[in-house]
Amino acid sequence: MATLAESLTWRGIPIGVTSAWGEAELLLGEVGAGSPGVLITAGIHGDEGPWGGWAVKKLLERLDLNDIRGFIRVAPMTNPLAMQADTRNAPVDQLDLNRAFPGDANGSYTERLAHILAEAALENIDYVIDLHGGGSWCVNAFVFEMEGGRELSLCFPAPFIIKAPARDVSLTGYARSLGKTVAAVEMGGRSENEALWAERIADGLLRALRQVGVVGAELTPPSVEPPRAVSDSIVLRPKRGGIFVPSVSAERIGTLVEKDRLLGQMLHPATYAVLEEFRAPFDETALLLLRPFMAQLEAGAMTYVVGRLARE
Ligand SMILES: [Zn+2]
Repeated sequence: MATLAESLTWRGIPIGVTSAWGEAELLLGEVGAGSPGVLITAGIHGDEGPWGGWAVKKLLERLDLNDIRGFIRVAPMTNPLAMQADTRNAPVDQLDLNRAFPGDANGSYTERLAHILAEAALENIDYVIDLHGGGSWCVNAFVFEMEGGRELSLCFPAPFIIKAPARDVSLTGYARSLGKTVAAVEMGGRSENEALWAERIADGLLRALRQVGVVGAELTPPSVEPPRAVSDSIVLRPKRGGIFVPSVSAERIGTLVEKDRLLGQMLHPATYAVLEEFRAPFDETALLLLRPFMAQLEAGAMTYVVGRLARE
């Protein structure tokens, strides 16, 4: 029996721009029929794309046509121009696709892409799982809880869960405004553990598909530790640009560290004098996003996302 990865039917919707990879199109892979319908997207932010897309491939290789009860649509390369540039937003218009919904058929590249996603990708869909996560410069380890989507988010083996801000201009926010059940996943990214995180995301996707009834209940994914609730998440950013050197490795993502623990330093790019230190701000600081490698950073760059462990 062919795997679902081999059974997908691909269709490309032109976005109206030519790129280094040829004519840019939104590629949608589809398999199954009827309901429920699930949409899985990766790479809305281009630099996060390959890690989520790879996890989708790992999921689809685990399943075959006998397993599917409804309809699955995947968009593993949701923002091709941004992915090609290895940037969050496409260089051509610098708009954040996840703030562009419902888009505009006559707008710029990103606005047209949001329109195509709103029209074609969401058609006949009941559930939306949007894979973000670390990308080419960071790792992260949490899931967002959207209104009505807690059970879906809890399918993912993330150490932490955070209530998401309500934003109708994001893909999941827009889909939720249409009555769909949604989850946004922030797991994995570039590190020596990237294959492990991709498998964990695939585990979560399988559990989510089973939860919503798109794959049979006889497929029993491994049980999952419930994530811990985190509140007051904040972004730590350098006041001055320079060379960033981490003090915690990718192994620490998804863990708690004690208050004032040194996380990393900014160094002067010529003298290597310490310009600034990043330290854990809370008694039990949840590490939600970190940079595992040295990097040149501009002032204001997102360097860590940390949160306070919520009292349950
Ligand atoms: Zn993202």
